[in-house]
Amino acid sequence: MTADLLIRGTIVTPDGPIRDGWLTIEGGTIGAIGTGEAPAAADVFDAGTALVMPGVIDGQTHAGSYGGLKGIGSTTRSAVAGGITTIVDMPYDNPAPLNDMATLEAKIAAVRQYAHANVALYATIMPGQSTDDVKALIDAGVVAFKISGFESSPTRFPRVPADLVLDLFEVLADTAVPLGIHNEDQEIVRSRIARARAAGRDGIEAHSESRPPAAELASTAHFLEIGAASGAHAHIVHLTSARGFQLVENYVRDGYRATGELCVHYLWFDPAEDGPELGAKMKVNPPIRPGQVEKLWQEVVAGRVAFVSSDHSSWPIDNKFTPSIFEAGAGVPGLETLLPAFFSGADQRGFNAVRLTAEQLSENPARFFGLWPQKGALVPGADADITIMTETPNVWDASSAHDELNWSPFDGREFSVKVTRTYVNGALAWDGTAVTNAGGDGAYVPRGDKHWFS
Ligand SMILES: [Zn+2]
Repeated sequence: MTADLLIRGTIVTPDGPIRDGWLTIEGGTIGAIGTGEAPAAADVFDAGTALVMPGVIDGQTHAGSYGGLKGIGSTTRSAVAGGITTIVDMPYDNPAPLNDMATLEAKIAAVRQYAHANVALYATIMPGQSTDDVKALIDAGVVAFKISGFESSPTRFPRVPADLVLDLFEVLADTAVPLGIHNEDQEIVRSRIARARAAGRDGIEAHSESRPPAAELASTAHFLEIGAASGAHAHIVHLTSARGFQLVENYVRDGYRATGELCVHYLWFDPAEDGPELGAKMKVNPPIRPGQVEKLWQEVVAGRVAFVSSDHSSWPIDNKFTPSIFEAGAGVPGLETLLPAFFSGADQRGFNAVRLTAEQLSENPARFFGLWPQKGALVPGADADITIMTETPNVWDASSAHDELNWSPFDGREFSVKVTRTYVNGALAWDGTAVTNAGGDGAYVPRGDKHWFS
């Protein structure tokens, strides 16, 4: 059989990179991988010495928090330009979150209409909602659930009380589906913000202080313990300090299903150094904290981080230009910077950037969300979701982004790699200068039957 496409380059497989290697694509999946004489193909792309990587799976994206479900269009255009072939989208859409079959079906329809990348979905439940919908949502393929310990919005992003968290964990305990938390304690944060306001402090350093480690770590520990009591998989969607990962590790050592996730901005920025330049442009929740960057890289290298995500938020920059830091929106765009920022940060520190990137941005999120082995690795039979990147110093210019937001805390930062091609389901989606596939070419990806904890 003649393959549809043969790609030559350094093929990054789970067993290591193959220099002067090749892979074939046949009908949207990977046919064969090898070196030396290659099979016949209808088309050939020679990437030279470039790295041919498994497509990135961004385990935390907020496509619809501002523009609603049609935000899937610009978000996934930006994804493929950033080498991301699958996004795992959070449930907190505008105006209402994904919390039942009707909202799931509407979102799947939007994926089929707008998505340039593949999309897997988180769901949530609302305060006062019964857990009756949970089983149906799982049967329909949602990959995880999320709740928040802090009310960002009463209707779109509410706080879920502890009794309902326990009920939800008990329903999930018989399944492999994780429950994630936005881990901040509401009483501590609200009172500290009021105190900072009263003292007239409203800069970026007041942001971190007003949401102190105590608020984040107490919420984390509380959630982990409810998860442990139920036997379900408890996941912390962003930890900002090494201490957080050590808390999770204690539960893993005791035999519980617990994981912690990191977002790439925590591996790059420090309010003490970058705060004066970036201000609200680096406002995320929980906050980026001083003195954590190198410690968090050590957590990644030690294997205590489940995976690294972008936590891309689709907020326009206007949302950041507010008189005080407390009114500014939290969250940053990040789909076109996740891969180059993670790879470059690992590379600059002398780590094995190719291996760490394949593990943290592809293999681990695929395993975590039940997408492995169909996604997450370049192996025969897997979906042909492929990212090609060239090692070349380049400065990120956020005005060139495809997210319709065109601002970034990474603007002007230097990266060591550039995404030159992205293939989604075997078809070219990004050619290095333009998005080449159409809305709807990305697919809705349900959870499969291989899991993080066996
Ligand atoms: Zn998030």
